[in-house]
Amino acid sequence: MSHTAVVGINWGDEGKGRMVDLLTEDHDIVVRYQGGGNAGHTVVNDKGKFALHLLPSGIFRDGVVNVLGNGVALDPENLWKEIEDLRAKGISVTPENLKISDRAPLLLPWHRLQDGLEEARLADKKYGSTKQGIAPFYSDKYQKKVVLAGELRFPAHFRAQLEALREWKDLTLSGVYGADPVSAESLEEWTRDYAEKILPFVCDTGEFLRESEKAGKRILFEAQLGALRDLDFGIVPYTTSSNTLAAYAPIGAGLPSVRIGEVIGVVKSYSTCVGEGPFVSEMFGEEADRLREAGAEYGAKTGRPRRVGAMDLVATRFGVRLQGATGLAVTKLDVLSYMEKIPVCTRYRVRSEETDAFPFPTLLDEAEPVIREVPGWGCDISAVRRFEDLPKAAQDYVLLIERAAGCPVTYVSVGPERESIIRR
Ligand code: GDP
Repeated sequence: MSHTAVVGINWGDEGKGRMVDLLTEDHDIVVRYQGGGNAGHTVVNDKGKFALHLLPSGIFRDGVVNVLGNGVALDPENLWKEIEDLRAKGISVTPENLKISDRAPLLLPWHRLQDGLEEARLADKKYGSTKQGIAPFYSDKYQKKVVLAGELRFPAHFRAQLEALREWKDLTLSGVYGADPVSAESLEEWTRDYAEKILPFVCDTGEFLRESEKAGKRILFEAQLGALRDLDFGIVPYTTSSNTLAAYAPIGAGLPSVRIGEVIGVVKSYSTCVGEGPFVSEMFGEEADRLREAGAEYGAKTGRPRRVGAMDLVATRFGVRLQGATGLAVTKLDVLSYMEKIPVCTRYRVRSEETDAFPFPTLLDEAEPVIREVPGWGCDISAVRRFEDLPKAAQDYVLLIERAAGCPVTYVSVGPERESIIRR
C-alpha cells in the first residue's frame, strides 16, 4: 500500500495544509511528524475557514484518523486551545479521530519564556523566532530534559519529573537571564488546565500505525515549514529546530520501517519568507506590497507581513532534491494573474560568477538574483480545472518550474478552496 508525504519545498507557507486537506480523500490517516504550533496551515473547505497550528489537516474529514507523532513539539496549552476552538466551530475532535504519541515530549511553559528572553538578548541580531518555545524545546529534547506525554499516565511520577525539570531550568532562567522562575503553583495549574486534558488522546501511536499499515490503510505524512528551514540542510542558522524533510517522516511519525511511495513537494508560484535570513529573490517597495496584498501574505500564527519575492528556481531545485519529491504541487498560481510580466530568479550571481547551485549558507548573503521576466496571462484563472484550459503563458510558467526542478508538476492550485485544483 503506497503512503504519501506532503512537504514544503521552500521556506514554508507553500499551501501544504490545503494539499493535505485535498489528499485526505484518498488516505485513512494523517500524521504530523515534526515541528510545533509555531507556524500555521490555513484550510478552506465546506466546513469553513480554519487556521491550524498543531493539529493535522485531516481533522476535517470524517473517518480520517489524525496522529501527532513523537517528533512534534507537543504544546498542551496551545493544542487544547486549538481543540476547543475547533469544537466551538462544530468540528468533532475525539480520541477516535485524534491520537497523540505517548512518546511525544511536552513543550513546557518555560520554553516559550526562554525563547522570548533569548530573542530579547539577541536584540538586532535576532533570528525572527515566533517565540513559541520551539528552539528551547528541541534543545532540551536532545539533552533528555523532557517529560513525555505518556508519563501523564503516572500522575505522581509526572509531577516529580516536572519539579526536577523546573529546578534545572531555573538555573538558566534566573541564573543566565535574570528572569523570575516559573512557580510550582503555576506549573500545577498548567498540568491541571492543559496537560491532563490531553491524556485521553495519548496512546502508543507507533503500534496503531503498524496495525493500520498491516490492515492496508493509507497514511499521509504532513510536514511543517519547508526544505530551506530544515535543521540539518537548510539555511543555518535561520532554520527551524526540527527536520522538515520527508526522510524524517518515518522517524518523527513513529513508524521507522515505513516506505513512503509518493512525496508531494508543495511549491508556491512565487517566494515568501517569514523572519530573518538571506532571501535572494526578495522584492521591495510597491512591487512587494502589491504581491503581498494579492497573495494575502500575512503569517497565520503571528499576523506578521511575510517577505515576498520572485519564484526562485535555484532554491526550488535544491528543495526538490532535499525532499526527494516524486511530484510537485504548484500553488497560488491565480495570485500572479495581475502581473503583465512575471519576474523569475533563474540563477544566482555569487562573487561575480553565475551558478545554478544553491550556495553554502555563509555565501548566500552575497548571492544576487539573476532575474528573467516571462509573460503574464492577464486574466482570472481561478475557475480553470484542466491544465490545457489554462492560458498558454500560465502553462509555460508551470512548465518552466517543472523543467528547472526536474520533477513533474502533478497539481496546480488556483485558489484556496478545496476544489480549486488542477490535476495533471
Ligand atoms: P502551509 O503552512 O504550507 O499550509 O501554508 P499556509 O496555510 O501558511 O499558506 C497558504 C495560504 O494560501 C493559505 O491562506 C491558503 O488558504 C492559501 N492558498 C493555498 N493555495 C492557494 C491557491 O492556490 N490560491 C490562493 N489564492 N490561495 C491559496
